[in-house]
Parts: sequence; structure tokens; C-alpha cells
Amino acid sequence: MVESRFIDFFGGVRAVCGSAVRGFNHLLWPAVCDVCQLHIGQSDQRLCRGCWDELLGCVGGDYCKRCGRDASVYGLIGRGCGNCEHLDLHYDGIARGGVYDGVLRDMILAFKFHDRMEFDDRLAAMANSALQGSSFAGSIDYIVPVPLHWRRRIERGYNQSLLISRRLKAGQGPPSPPAASAPLNTDLVRIRHTDRQWNLSPSKRRTNVKNAFAVRKGHNYSGKRLCLVDDITTSGATLNECAKTLKAAGAKAVFAAVVAVAMQDLG
Ligand SMILES: [Zn+2]
Ligand SMILES: [Zn+2]
Repeated sequence: MVESRFIDFFGGVRAVCGSAVRGFNHLLWPAVCDVCQLHIGQSDQRLCRGCWDELLGCVGGDYCKRCGRDASVYGLIGRGCGNCEHLDLHYDGIARGGVYDGVLRDMILAFKFHDRMEFDDRLAAMANSALQGSSFAGSIDYIVPVPLHWRRRIERGYNQSLLISRRLKAGQGPPSPPAASAPLNTDLVRIRHTDRQWNLSPSKRRTNVKNAFAVRKGHNYSGKRLCLVDDITTSGATLNECAKTLKAAGAKAVFAAVVAVAMQDLG
């Protein structure tokens, strides 16, 4: 009884001191929005109201589960939508966190090119939420990040897709929550240094990544269901080439989970 009072007392003192320290910290270093640097009330909110609203606007909405482009359920044609029905896609489905626009685009660019690695949890949470809502989350054997060529990895210092992959949860069992997390597998490698894709036309993107991937000797992809992970897909060329490589290695099915889909013509 006496002990529990002591614990309550010291717990109370600690809480009061903690909030005083937080208040003092806030005076010295006022919290700012991670994206636009606007002052915000609490450092743990990390985004201002305007950025939150914009971010929520990038998420949600109906999309084609084959290519990831915006499509209402009434716009679906046969196996896909008007954007992808004419394309041979090697991946069997996609889950997207949102549309590459506004605050989401700013966060991805900062994460990818300006060492803002602290965004990995929020971006991964978006991809994870989409993945958990997908029809394939419960049947994945391995999560496979889209690999970077070693030269780009040295330039950047990290593979953004690998950071996101480490935080995803998918696996054998019901989609939500998964019974177990599928292990990460990095036996898919990029064997050719390729030009950056963003300035290229859809057909040039396909050529740029053609035969750029391979699997490591001793891989365990045969008969497996895999989920590729990337931060963004634009034309789908990289995902498609990765999926083609994985299927050539014996994968039974290949899906994709991405943080964002850029609304560029698929070509
Ligand atoms: Zn903001
Ligand atoms: Zn589509």
C-alpha cells in the first residue's frame, strides 16, 4: 500500500517534471511541421493541419488494382482499367498508399533525395495500410524491395524501398491482421546501372530497365508468392521488369505495394 503510494507520488512528480521539460523545450525549440516548417502545437504531431489535410487528400479514392491508376469501379474493364487493359503486366496486382501529389510528393522527394529518413515510418504506414486492405496481403511468402544498383546505393547512402519494406507486414494468414509477417528477401538485384527514369517517355523507361535485374544464385523464389515494394511507380516499367525477372525465376505470383502512384500516361 505504502509502496504503491510512493510509486503514484513519484509517477506524478515525474509526469509534472516531464511536462515542464517539454514546455521548456517547446519555448526553446518550438515544434515545426516536418514538411512546410510551419510552427505547430506539439512536436509529436509532426505535421501542421494544412499538410495533414493535403496528405489525407492524396490517400484513398478508388483505383485499378491491376495498375494503380485512379479508376472508379464503373471504369474497370475486364482485367483492368482503360489505362492498362492493353498492357502486358507481369505483376498480378498492386496496392497503393496514395497519389504522388502535394504533400505526399514532397515527403517522398525529401525521403529519397534529401536524407529525410525519418519519413520512412509514415510512408511505410501508408503503403502498409493499402497492403492490409488488399486481397493478397495474407498470402505473401516474401517481401522483396525493388533493388538499387550498388552505385546508386553508394550515392544515396540507402535504398528507400528497403527502408519501407522493413516496416511492412504481410504474410500467410488472413489479410488483416496477418497471422505472420513475411520475411524480407533481397535476392532480387539490379545488375545494370540505369539512367534515372523521370525524364523518359514510357517506352524509353521500358527500354531503360530491360534486363536490368537478376536473382541471386541459391534464391528461394520457386513456387512462391512475392510482394515487390517501392516508394513510387510512374509508368510501372520498373515493377514490370522486376516481376518478369521473378517469374522467370519461378515465382508463382508477384504483387506490388507502393507508397504512391504517379498519374503519368502508361504509354
Ligand atoms: Zn505543414
Ligand atoms: Zn489499370
